[in-house]
Amino acid sequence: MKRPWHSLTADDALSALDSRRDGLTSEEATTRLARHGPNHLVGKKKTPPLVVLLRQFLSPLIYILLAAVAVSIIVGDLLDAWVILAVLVLNAVVGFVQETRAEKAMEALIQMAAPKARVRRDGRVQLLAATEIVPGDIVTIEAGDKVPGDARIVSVSNLKVNESALTGESMPIDKSTAVVDAAATATGVTAIADRLDLVYMGTIVTYGRATAVITETGMRTEIGRIATAIQAVEETVTPLQRSIAKISNYVIVLFLAVCGLLAIVGLIRGLPWLEVFLLAVAAAVSAIPEGLPAVVTVVLAVGMRFMAQRNAIIRKLVAVETLGSATVICSDKTGTLTLNEMTVRRLYIGGRLIKVAGDGYDPSGNFSQDDQILDPAVDPELLTMLRAGALCNDAQLTGDATDGTAVPGIIGDPTEGALVAAAAKAGLAKNDMESESPRLDEIPFRSERLYMATLHEHEFSPKRKNSHGRARIIYLKGAVERLLPLSQYLLRDGKVAPLRKADASAIADANTAMATDAMRVIAVAYLEVPETLDKLTEQTLKHGLVFVGLAGMADPPRDEAREAIGLCHGAGIKVIMITGDNRVTAESIARQLDLPTGRAVTGPELATMSDKELAGAVEDVSVFARIEPLHKLRIVNALKTHGHVVAMTGDGVNDALALRAADIGVAMGITGTDVAKEASDVVLTDDNFASVVSAVEEGRAIFNRLRGVVFFLLSTNLGELIALILSVLVVGKAPLLAVQIIWVNLVTDTVPAIPLGLEPRAGDEIKHPPRDPRVGLIYPGLIFRILFLAVQMGVGLFLVFTWAESRMPIEEARTLAFCSMSAFELFRAFNARSDERTVFSLGVFRNRWLVYATFITIALQLMVVYVPFLRTAFGTVPIGLDRWGIALLAGGSMFAIEEIRKKLFSRLFSLGKWRPARTTR
Ligand code: ADP
Ligand code: MG
Repeated sequence: MKRPWHSLTADDALSALDSRRDGLTSEEATTRLARHGPNHLVGKKKTPPLVVLLRQFLSPLIYILLAAVAVSIIVGDLLDAWVILAVLVLNAVVGFVQETRAEKAMEALIQMAAPKARVRRDGRVQLLAATEIVPGDIVTIEAGDKVPGDARIVSVSNLKVNESALTGESMPIDKSTAVVDAAATATGVTAIADRLDLVYMGTIVTYGRATAVITETGMRTEIGRIATAIQAVEETVTPLQRSIAKISNYVIVLFLAVCGLLAIVGLIRGLPWLEVFLLAVAAAVSAIPEGLPAVVTVVLAVGMRFMAQRNAIIRKLVAVETLGSATVICSDKTGTLTLNEMTVRRLYIGGRLIKVAGDGYDPSGNFSQDDQILDPAVDPELLTMLRAGALCNDAQLTGDATDGTAVPGIIGDPTEGALVAAAAKAGLAKNDMESESPRLDEIPFRSERLYMATLHEHEFSPKRKNSHGRARIIYLKGAVERLLPLSQYLLRDGKVAPLRKADASAIADANTAMATDAMRVIAVAYLEVPETLDKLTEQTLKHGLVFVGLAGMADPPRDEAREAIGLCHGAGIKVIMITGDNRVTAESIARQLDLPTGRAVTGPELATMSDKELAGAVEDVSVFARIEPLHKLRIVNALKTHGHVVAMTGDGVNDALALRAADIGVAMGITGTDVAKEASDVVLTDDNFASVVSAVEEGRAIFNRLRGVVFFLLSTNLGELIALILSVLVVGKAPLLAVQIIWVNLVTDTVPAIPLGLEPRAGDEIKHPPRDPRVGLIYPGLIFRILFLAVQMGVGLFLVFTWAESRMPIEEARTLAFCSMSAFELFRAFNARSDERTVFSLGVFRNRWLVYATFITIALQLMVVYVPFLRTAFGTVPIGLDRWGIALLAGGSMFAIEEIRKKLFSRLFSLGKWRPARTTR
């Protein structure tokens, strides 16, 4: 029997997997992928298509229709039966197609936000989709990652993993490389929680880092075995959809009552009972917007696709509706408002200010002081600075020099990448230095700690070793405020000297000068320690640090971010910059971005404020500096007390709380940890602030589209009912036959509704103040508008029918009413495109889908009126041009009334007083 992975040493596990510490080659990986299959959990069984199709018939209305078919057959009216059946099938097919397509689209989108893994292949670290991982792959995991597969740890540093997904134990577990001996336990079996040398797919790294060799993937992982049980069910029904469902329930009850009324009126007027029955059924079927929930789903799915094209992936549907009403966007600075492409430009070492030339991560450029080029090789201070910066560092350069890919870039944190690139400019290759003085232990960087430290075998200078009797060295880098107080010494003129008050204030001044130039400043220090030290703790660092210098790195602001901030300003959306950087840097970046100036508050200040004080101050703040992730939660809550709808960006593990608390949590797709992504509603594929603003814009557009669809379906359906009742009541005859009503429902009602859900953005969405979150999809203005236009349409149609009925045979009068109805609906669809803007200001042809739909509908309508066998089925007669003129005139005049209303009283039925008065700046 195969020995369990946890009882093998790392090397045995590697050889059992036929792998090596430097990873597989891509060819090996490809064959293994073919053998083992993609590394993902097979989701819950999909509903079979046939079931989805049959489900379309599961509606009380369909039962009524089926009853109508039965009745028609019994009374020998086979034609009606066939037509209704055909309509039923068509209806089911349309519903089926919509449902499956929307579902597929959403699945694809959610996949795009799937986790990535750092894998060593062909001897270098690559970022791959977690699904491509195979057994034998060497992966690196660190804080914030979701473990991509089950794996045996090969090397480890302070790794803590939260395995609650698997074991229910919520305390993070410390992991190590030591073999877990099964025989040592009483039962001879090692529980999952005790296999400390293994990590499991789907668990979350909360601290430290490790490399590990993948042992199992996909459904063969521990979590795969219990996958079905813990399958994370994403919320697929949003409050919006639920409220739509509720609306349609009310409407169904209301309209059914009206249909009952219609039946009573018909019987009183002495219509044959069969006709009354069919009419009432047809009216019920067509009047009730059963398609509404489906159309809403389609609109949301399409909207999500638009957002994805603009680099925002919606993870939770709820976000679509909330986005449009965002009143505040709290954005990270680094990477979101700036490019996060750091380049070291200045160094301040031993009282000297050194300029560094070069761009991006390209490892070429010289060092100069007072316009004199320096030779780093003979400048020990400079070398120490660069060496420390590059060794206390987890980033890696990519590009020409290192691995043959074209553009110089990095894998890892840009702040660190900048330091590696700077060292490379002096000819110091990180890999060489690492093999000379390997890292023995580390304290990883954390935003709340503001520094990072690594313990190394001392560099090769034997002289130093002899003079101090020290063989190991700790390098530190981090915020100046953190490292300076810990430092007692200073590196100056190549020697270690005591750090005096004057030195400290000179360093502080240099720091401020760099920060004022919008640079991020990193301080570097070291501490020599005896050979006996092999564990690094914060305690070790309390005394005797030697301060080396400062590195100032530029991170250019994003141009798009500046534009987007301008848009927000116009839209009354407040933008708040949140950063771990110091206040001066943050403020100068804010200036470069034209962020409206407000107060700047730092984390330490915030820590002394009570929640109440914070709530009182928060509306005036535009920059939060030196912020720890946990402060973000307080900021969100403070903003919420003012009724703000808060969008908050984040990327780290500790951002998760704030991302969840925010109305819209936005995670970074590139730099974000899996934990942050999981806690958020939206994931940005480009980490760009501008994409948040685009998403808000799309969110508003989606809301408008939904309004259009709801308005269209409800107003036309109600209009039909009113026309039916009026005509039966007054004339004693139905203006449309049952089949005609069903046709109107299926064709003229549905065909334009979908294109309405595709209405292009008007372009001014972002120019308005945000929607008051209390104003839902349906608001009083919309209800008035629906009623007003439905009555117009009902009365109009009734007038056309009464006029015709006394002048021509009933078949012709009905055909005219039928065609008028279609005309009404088509015109109405154009009305529905906006509740405030006229069709002409929107551009008549801009919604080309609606234009196509109009042509299709017209063609179908003509067929029903002129193709002989369809004529028999639908009880129509051919009508002349003059009759068409009447239909168009009737429909057109209703259209004109609404468009003139928009022009003259654009706010009459729109948000009007329900529009929020407050605009936040
Ligand atoms: P931001 O919100 O701008 O990304 P961070 O929390 O990442 O801010 O960084 C805050 C501060 O911590 C920086 O100003 C810098 O002084 C320090 N710092 C950032 N990254 C590192 C790192 N990798 N190692 C050491 N110190 C760092
Ligand atoms: Mg950062």
